[in-house]
Amino acid sequence: MTCILQLGPLTERFNRGLAAEHEVLALWEPGADALLDSHAQRIEIVVTSARFGCNAALIERLPNLRAIVSFGVGYDAIDVAAARARGIPVSNTPDVLNDCVADLAFGLVIDCARKMSRADRFVRAGEWPSGGLPLGTRVSGKRLGIVGLGRIGEAVAKRSNGFDMQVRYHNRRPVEGSPYGYEASLIEMARWSDFLVLACPGGDATRHLVSREVLDALGPKGILVNVSRGSVVDEPALVEALLEGRLGGAGLDVYAHEPKVPQALLDLPNVVLLPHIGSATEETRLAMEELLFANLRAFLECGELLTTV
Ligand code: NAP
Repeated sequence: MTCILQLGPLTERFNRGLAAEHEVLALWEPGADALLDSHAQRIEIVVTSARFGCNAALIERLPNLRAIVSFGVGYDAIDVAAARARGIPVSNTPDVLNDCVADLAFGLVIDCARKMSRADRFVRAGEWPSGGLPLGTRVSGKRLGIVGLGRIGEAVAKRSNGFDMQVRYHNRRPVEGSPYGYEASLIEMARWSDFLVLACPGGDATRHLVSREVLDALGPKGILVNVSRGSVVDEPALVEALLEGRLGGAGLDVYAHEPKVPQALLDLPNVVLLPHIGSATEETRLAMEELLFANLRAFLECGELLTTV
């Protein structure tokens, strides 16, 4: 039996399935950390997720580690460079989550513009009989800027077709053959956009890509939607821009220090806050589990992961 180190719990179904086929050391269980040293020589695979990651210190502790298999597409929490330096391949679960993350991003665009969550709070609070809500913003026909026209960004752009929107995108390089307009300057694209949707990876290369200047370019009527990573946005600058009315609103699924959400955001009416649920549907989570298992089996049977990062 292969000895696997699982860094954090996924669904009950997944945890049971993994433990049925392999010897699993579940790192979150009491006493597991102490067992890690005695098992370190035998651990061949680390199973983790975008949330639990895998740092260089842990990789170093496992002399016979052969692969890191992760649940989720983002791998900014995994030290891929440290793994590569030891020749350890890393897999993720791309593509199967594109639709659900893009649906959620588009939901945030509509919710922020049409004040749906705010209207729901208004009705529940019994305020309807005594007044009205401020008017919302039209979504159809507007300008959508996408930061990161990759797998998820493409799916967001596709959804915008049904809303007759104009689409531009900002990547480091233009996408060959894309029907959407490329913007080399993020600030220029933010100035042009009514809605700015972030769908790029997290990590050092994109840290605070959305700066105070970008937020100011998006402006007092602009809406920021973030389904990428909290690190991509300068969060204190975002809070300031919202408090000072320099930004119209924001729909956030991700934050700088999850699960902490700045109090100022909780207090603002023009912000929609979700607890990192981009891929959190029954169908997509099952597909992600299946892809993780497929990677694991392929590696154990043929020595190759299917979807390496
Ligand atoms: P992907 O296919 O690799 O696309 C990433 C896009 O970002 C590419 O178009 C890339 O283009 C662009 N990009 C990368 N670095 C950039 C930079 N420094 N500046 C501007 N653009 C940059 O990835 P994906 O599968 O669509 O996933 C994107 C991200 O979504 C993940 O990494 C993850 O962080 C996030 N995500 C969030 C959730 C959630 O629950 N909210 C769920 C799944 C994924 P270039 O290489 O040309 O720059």
